[in-house]
Order: sequence, then C-alpha cells, then structure tokens
Amino acid sequence: MQAVAALLRGRSVVCLTGAGMSTDSGIPDYRGPGSPPRKPMTFDEFCSGQAAQRRYWSRAFVGWQHMAGAAPNDGHRALARMQAAGVIGTLVTQNVDGLHGAAGSRPLIDLHGRISEVICLECRDVTPRQHVQTRLQALNPAYARSDTSGVEIAPDGDALVDDSERFALAGCGTCGGRLKPHVVFFGENVPKDRVAAVTALVDEADALLVVGSSLTVMSGFRFVRQAHRSGTPVVIVNRGATRGDDLADVRVDAGCSETMTALAEELVSRRPAASATSHWGRPRPATGGGRDQPLRAAATSH
Ligand SMILES: [Zn+2]
Repeated sequence: MQAVAALLRGRSVVCLTGAGMSTDSGIPDYRGPGSPPRKPMTFDEFCSGQAAQRRYWSRAFVGWQHMAGAAPNDGHRALARMQAAGVIGTLVTQNVDGLHGAAGSRPLIDLHGRISEVICLECRDVTPRQHVQTRLQALNPAYARSDTSGVEIAPDGDALVDDSERFALAGCGTCGGRLKPHVVFFGENVPKDRVAAVTALVDEADALLVVGSSLTVMSGFRFVRQAHRSGTPVVIVNRGATRGDDLADVRVDAGCSETMTALAEELVSRRPAASATSHWGRPRPATGGGRDQPLRAAATSH
C-alpha cells in the first residue's frame, strides 16, 4: 500500500475501474476467480431478431429487480472520497451499474454507458430504464419475481431465465422501434467521442490507477497500453491476474473495497496540511517529476 501511495501521491491520477469494484455490492464479475463462465449477448446477436431480444429482455427484466436494489460499497465510497480531496481526478468506469455515481464520484465517465437508460435503435431516443421496466411489468406479470435472491445475475444486469418465448417486448414510446439498454454490448464499439475524451485524460495524467478490472476487453486495456507507452506509471489493483500485469509499475492482488479504503486512509487522511494551498490548474511537472510535489486539493476543472 505504501508503494501505491508513494507512486500516486502528488500526481494527477486518472482511475479506471471494472466489475471487481461491484462484487461487494452483490453484482458478480464475469471473469473474477470462481465466476461461472458466462457468455454475454453480443450486439449482432441482439440485432438478429425478436427471439434474441425476447431472450435478452426477459433476463434483463428479472435482473433489473436485483440491480435496482444494489448500493455502493466501501470501495466506491473511498474512490469518491479521494476524488473529492483532489487525490484522484476523473474516474472512468467500465461498469454500467451506476454505483460510482451513486457514491458521489465526480467527474465520472461511464465508458460502457449506463444500465439505467434505454436507447431506441431506430430514432436514438433515450428513456429511463425504470419507465421501460414499468411497461414490461404490465406486459409480463408472469415474469415478475418478488425475490431475486436465488436468481443468477450478471454484471450487466441480466439474469438466467429459462423460457423467454412468451416474453412480450416493449417498443420505443416515440417510434415503436427496438429498445436496447444504453450500454455498449460485446461486439459493439465505445462511442468515438468517449474514447477520445479518455485518451486525452490519460495523455495529461501523471499516473493511471486501475481498480477491479482484469483488462480482458480492449476498451479498457487500450488505456493501460497508452499510459505504458508514454512512460506514465500504472498501478493495478485486482483480485487475480490481469492482461495488463506486465505493463504495471505496481500490482496489488487484493479486493477493491479494502484496498481502496486503505489507500484513501493513506492519501487523504494522512496527507500533509500544506497540500491545501496547491491546486489542479498549475503546470504539470516534467516527466517523472511529480513524486515530491505537494498534493493537489479540490479538483475544480477537467
Ligand atoms: Zn424510437
């Protein structure tokens, strides 16, 4: 922990998080140790026809009842606390569960979108997921579950549902088109402007902190490669091996909640009082020179 704190202290830090963040909130990881092998639906499969959409939405309908009850854990709170103290700048998450936002993380980029929104594939109208859930509830009373404790839930909020043939789909309220959760599916690209925004942040950062991601998908791994290429230190905190281990300056094999709590304790609670006078806006130090700088206080821009 001291090695991690020493590497991050006084640097402008961008943080990238993944599914391992949310396991302590009851949302399982696709790829963590002990996870059952799961194959999430791809974008092409979703678009292939109504049978696939019925299968997706029946699972999502049941999964949402569990997902909507999930709350941020100590790890989410610790990261929000470090952001509020200016120790971490922008938080970029691969998670779609909304728990970083619920914990108060700002600024926040939802790389893969938010499960709390639904988009029409035809007219691109975006509506709150809860509205669609209410409509699906009225259309499919037989699929409602009062208790989801025995239901197997995936990180994107779907659940295993045996029969989906009779599940009635809800169309777009504006044009009647196909509705899809406003999240990036496997086989779908992260919107270009979102990638560009994160690329610019990583380019400006003095350090990249990765928490709870095995970096299996390129959408997150590309930023680790980018940081490594430009000589920006990379810290990876994850339970189990990651695809970025060879590129990390410090690697912590541990859970997110306890590690982030300890890191916040180290970087926020024990920081020198003099740090209150520094701020984000001054010129960043030359490459590798940030280690002895005082901490930046409240992040006012970015
Ligand atoms: Zn529409």
